[in-house]
Formats: sequence, C-alpha cells, structure tokens
Amino acid sequence: TVIADRRPIRELPDELISQIAAGEVVERPASVVRELVDNALDAGAAQITVRLLAGGVRLIAVEDDGSGIPEPELATALKRHATSKIASLADLESVGTMGFRGEALAAISSVSELSLLSRTAAQPNAFLLDGRSGELRPAARGVGTSVEVRELFFATPARRKFLKTDATELAHCIEAVRRHALARPDVGFAIWHEGKLVEQWRRCEGSSAQAHDRRLADVLGEDFLERSVLVEHRSGNLTVRGRAGVPDAARSRSDWQYCWVNGRYVRDKVIGHAARSAYEDVLHGQRQPVYALHVAVDPARIDVNVHPTKIEVRFRDSREVHQAVRHAVENALAAPRAGATNGAAS
Ligand code: ADP
Ligand code: MG
Repeated sequence: TVIADRRPIRELPDELISQIAAGEVVERPASVVRELVDNALDAGAAQITVRLLAGGVRLIAVEDDGSGIPEPELATALKRHATSKIASLADLESVGTMGFRGEALAAISSVSELSLLSRTAAQPNAFLLDGRSGELRPAARGVGTSVEVRELFFATPARRKFLKTDATELAHCIEAVRRHALARPDVGFAIWHEGKLVEQWRRCEGSSAQAHDRRLADVLGEDFLERSVLVEHRSGNLTVRGRAGVPDAARSRSDWQYCWVNGRYVRDKVIGHAARSAYEDVLHGQRQPVYALHVAVDPARIDVNVHPTKIEVRFRDSREVHQAVRHAVENALAAPRAGATNGAAS
C-alpha cells in the first residue's frame, strides 16, 4: 500500500523525546529505584532510605545524605543529557560513577510526577523543585537529596498495564536495592513500604572483606555465608573477590548469582559462564551454583555505555576476564575450607 498521507519530517517535542527515551530506561518501579539509588551513591551518601507506596507505582521516594544539588542546578538536573559526571569523550572512556548519561531524571520525570528536594552544605536551607510546574521554593531539609516520584506511567497507560501486582513490583524494588546493598556495605539502606519498614541493612564497619561478609549475611542470610568460600584472586590489574557457594548450597533456580563490575551490578554472560564452568566437576544436573562476585578492572578496559540501563558492560579482553573468574572460583572451591579443616585435611 502507498502511504498517501505522508506527513512532513518534524523534530519531536522535548517532552515526547524524553517519554520515548523513558521506554528504555524505566520499565517498572524497580528501574526508578535503581536509578535513584545510583544517584545517591554517586553523591557520596552514607545512608539511603527508600519509601514506597503500592509497590512503587503510587510513590517512590529516595532520600540520601549525599552532597546535594545546588539550587541553581536543580532545574538543569531534570533536563535531558544533563549531568555533572562527565564533560568530555575522554571522561566517558573511564567512567567511575554509576551514572553518566544524564537521562534518568529527565526520563523518569516525563512519565511521572517528580519533585526534587535538595540542600548542599553551603546552603542555609533546602529548595524544592516541582518537576511538573517548574516551581522552585525554599524548604526544610538537612544536607542531601530527596527525590519523590509519584504516579508512575500515569500518562502512558500502555506501560502502566504491563505492571504486575503491588507485591511483585515491591519484590523487584527490594531486589534492586539488594544489588546495591551487596556492593556497598559501607552504606546503610532502609526500605519502607506503606509505612512499614520492610528491610534494613546497617552500615558495616571493619575491613572491606569483613564488611562484605557481614552485609552478605544481612542481605542473603547467614546460611549463604556459612555455606560459601571466600574468593580472592588477582591477575594483572584485574581482581575477583567475593563468595562462592559450596556445591551443596546450589539451588534449583539461578536467582543467587550476583556479579558486579567495578561496583556496578551487571548481568554478564562472560562472568556467568566462567563461574558456572568452575562448578563443572562438582555440580551435576540442573543445580544452579550460588555466588556473589565482585570484579574490579581498569575502567578504561571496559565499555559501560552499551545499554541504556547499564546492566551490561563490554570488556576489552573478555577472555582475560573469563579465565580470571574461572580460576578464582575453582581455586576457592578447591582450597580446604577455613574453620572446617579440623581432621578433614589429609
Ligand atoms: P546522571 O546520573 O547520568 O548524571 P541523572 O539524570 O540521573 O543523570 O542525574 C542528573 C544530575 O543530577 C546528576 O549528574 C547529578 O549532578 C544530579 N543528581 C541527581 N540525583 C542526585 C542526588 N541524589 N544527589 C546529588 N546530585 C544528584
Ligand atoms: Mg543517574
């Protein structure tokens, strides 16, 4: 068929561009939670509180005690491609922050009612910006930022229809925070739903390894910690550390397979395959190993700008990563277990 009524090419209005972009970044309330917690961590927060109503559909509020946003920059924070985290292509080559695309707040505010309340240490008071009206007024708050996101997808009913029950959306929101919490034991997290505290993970003191173990036990349970071995491996300037479950701890589902690259939770085929292959000889059938692995690599050797949600990364040398992860886990599983060596060794 011939398109008889072809319309002229037009540049789309900003609002519509943001709404289209939001389709990639904001799939459900948990995506908003992830982005807002990313921002709080980038701002150096020590304590992050997430408050939700109706699984996050009616309200997602994330409060932090980070650096805050200066009043003159509040409106800019909501603009597309506006960021304080990179300024040049060179910066993009070695991103050290969770964010850098400058599109999360713009995308979220295009599909919700968003407000920003923030105060820097240099300001005597906070300011509140209403994303919809653009109204800016003085308000009360300690140093840090509160972002409130109400009525997600109210203007995009097609998207709203894809949302599951409140309980399911809540579970996804908690999972999003869990991924951050496991990577950052030095930060305290609390999640409230409908006025009730549903999760609380306090800041963990001590050395990094101890703090990570403590946090792992708090988030995934003492059992995870007790039935796992310490993974510690360095090759070149690549390190792999964390915990790998003993074969007995394997599950029927692959839900406890966590990995982070430079502190960013990722779903990575290379790491996943390497970790699974380390269990090749000790795990049979459909059993899924459990692990929580942190890979640290020179930021210049990965590309984090692969996916709008940054859930994937690309390694410059994925073979190197595969080998390191596989060796790290294999060695950890082969070593006699600390604390369980009495009489067992021979
Ligand atoms: P990005 O994180 O990619 O820079 P965002 O849209 O998520 O983009 O945020 C835009 C900017 O707003 C950030 O670069 C940062 O300067 C500021 N910002 C957002 N959230 C916070 C926060 N919780 N604390 C301090 N600054 C923030
Ligand atoms: Mg961000």
